[in-house]
Amino acid sequence: MNITEIVKAQKAYFSTYETRDVSFRKNQLIKLLNLIKSHEEDIFQALKDDLNKPNFEAYETEIGMVYEELKFMIKNIKSLAKVKKIKTPLMHFPSKSYQYHDPLGCVLIMSPWNYPFQLTISPLIGALSAGNCAVVKPSNYAKATSKVIKKILDNFNSEYICVVEGGREVNTMLLEEKFDFIFFTGSPTVGKLIMEKAAKHLTPIVLELGGKSPCIVDETANIDLSAKRIAWGKLLNSGQTCVAPDYILVHENVKNAFVTALQKYITLFYGTNPETNTEYPKIINQHHFDRLCELISKSTDVIGGKSNPETMQIAPALVDNCTFDSVVMEDEIFGPILPILSYSNLDHAITSINNRPKPLALYCFTQSIAVEKKILRSIIFGGGCINDTIIHLANSHLSFGGVGESGMGRYHGKESFNTFSHTKSILKKGNFIDINVRYAPYKNKIKLLKKIL
Ligand code: NAD
Repeated sequence: MNITEIVKAQKAYFSTYETRDVSFRKNQLIKLLNLIKSHEEDIFQALKDDLNKPNFEAYETEIGMVYEELKFMIKNIKSLAKVKKIKTPLMHFPSKSYQYHDPLGCVLIMSPWNYPFQLTISPLIGALSAGNCAVVKPSNYAKATSKVIKKILDNFNSEYICVVEGGREVNTMLLEEKFDFIFFTGSPTVGKLIMEKAAKHLTPIVLELGGKSPCIVDETANIDLSAKRIAWGKLLNSGQTCVAPDYILVHENVKNAFVTALQKYITLFYGTNPETNTEYPKIINQHHFDRLCELISKSTDVIGGKSNPETMQIAPALVDNCTFDSVVMEDEIFGPILPILSYSNLDHAITSINNRPKPLALYCFTQSIAVEKKILRSIIFGGGCINDTIIHLANSHLSFGGVGESGMGRYHGKESFNTFSHTKSILKKGNFIDINVRYAPYKNKIKLLKKIL
């Protein structure tokens, strides 16, 4: 089938109303859960082939997160999909108000290569739970995972879920179609293109994008523990994480102690030669490997950063004494390079962050409630953690999404259901009485109206 036929077939199937039935949706989610369970080994292998992800990381950040999301939806779908009774102001008496949750129709899900399994399946769970049909387009750079995703999802009728593989040409063809919704995860550059294409059909979109996520380490922070948690969050998937701490802003009084602690934990986690450690993920492809190696070679005061061209692994590189003008501060790093910037005045540090695009994530390490409050009050960002990194997105009860250039819209848990639904508001009027106030002629009625409103 070509892409136009796939979309046509999905729209026809959606019109049969089968996907609106909540029991049907729940059964499909259970089927998906069982299929993933029976393909767990294939997924582990694919993530190893694409990114050299160790099984622990693959389970922690991809498969396990998908299970959590599936379990949440299977447990909550009935209550999420229920018609909700809403308050009605007295002036509309006699009437009742309700909110219905309609699916959107045939949705397109496009995902990136860095968490290729989780970032494809998590939005799909939202789409199915809300009663949609879905065309799924995994990233062409994570080829092995894309194949496993196809193998798993081919167990569903293609009029319900259809995986489309391929590169640029396929993307272009997909974006010519009129979908009812597009859920895109990827770079801000491609995000702009998606928005442009969607505008042609007025298709609503969610954009889950990236950018430079700051990590502030205040003077009062527990330095050793902060370094440990930052090293963990930065080096998951070798830094190829949308919410990885992109750069450090550390108070000058604790900078040296912090850098020393970071080095200690990098060695504890990955040994003295991470670039040959079999449990350390590789860079996705030659283009990104070369890009990161070039960033390291153009920087000064680099600690670490040895590369292994055979395995495409790059040891963590701390770039000390950076400023906002350093080459590593130009674009999102998306690799194991960590610029260290120091500050003496928190207000100036906050202004520097606010002068740049709104970050997807922000992390703040402090033991001062005043500092925590100040940062949360004065910086607008997608989401983040106090005294940790990354884990805010592993809580199904917390919505996840960017703001400004880091994205629009949110998902996970209940928000995924809402994102893939249309809330239809209905006011049902009773017929047993019809109060005349609202009808013309209005003579002498305004006083009464003012009392009611
Ligand atoms: P990308 O934008 O290059 O690709 C994302 C998807 O878009 C892929 O499926 C790709 O095939 C497709 N695509 C690429 N070029 C296209 C084009 N010209 N037209 C149409 N589609 C196109 O992103 P990437 O390199 O795969 O991922 C890295 C980026 O994604 C980083 O910026 C990262 O921060 C971001 N990201 C964001 C999140 C999030 O949840 N916010 C998660 C992971 C990655």
